[in-house]
Amino acid sequence: STGKQILGAAEIQRSLVRIAHEILERNRGSHNLVLLGIPSGGVPLAHRLAAALEVAAKEDDDPAGAPPVGTLDITMYRDDLGRHPIRVPRPTRIPGESLEGRTVILVDDVLFSGRTIRAALDALGAIGRADAVQLAVLIDRGHRELPIRADYVGKNLPTSRSEKIVVALTELGAAADAVTIVD
Ligand code: 5GP
Ligand code: MG
Repeated sequence: STGKQILGAAEIQRSLVRIAHEILERNRGSHNLVLLGIPSGGVPLAHRLAAALEVAAKEDDDPAGAPPVGTLDITMYRDDLGRHPIRVPRPTRIPGESLEGRTVILVDDVLFSGRTIRAALDALGAIGRADAVQLAVLIDRGHRELPIRADYVGKNLPTSRSEKIVVALTELGAAADAVTIVD
């Protein structure tokens, strides 16, 4: 089946720029922020968001610049781990000394049931105690199964359960950035 394009490259970038401004407004600047991408889709998006934050912060004469970016692997915190015994953990990298005094912004490509973010909060809690945790996603496709919501959303996209969002990003080998919906 063929996909229907929802966002092109320019629209993806515009969404990230808007989210960057929302992050600066909500947090009164970019100091103390750390972005953690959830592999795999969240990692390139976290780096792009950090670049957009650097530009947006400059516009505000915010000297803090780009926030550090890390990755948070949630493999071992999944609630379905027992059903899929062969899972290979990916690295977790937390920039800086500790999470104390910092606001963590989790970044992922698609928010669906919320179970990945629940696991991410567990993984994060095992590392330290951040002052606050916020969530940025490119696409919220609905169908939550847990009381979890995103603080920053690129696009809300009502989907049926059988549909799938394809997030193509050049960093992950795609020829061009695009978000498409396939049935
Ligand atoms: P959840 O745990 O909220 O059910 O699903 C979110 C996680 O699964 C995210 O890490 C996301 O990458 C992936 N995911 C869930 N649904 C989709 C989808 O339709 N498209 C893509 N690309 N990823 C999805
Ligand atoms: Mg994912």
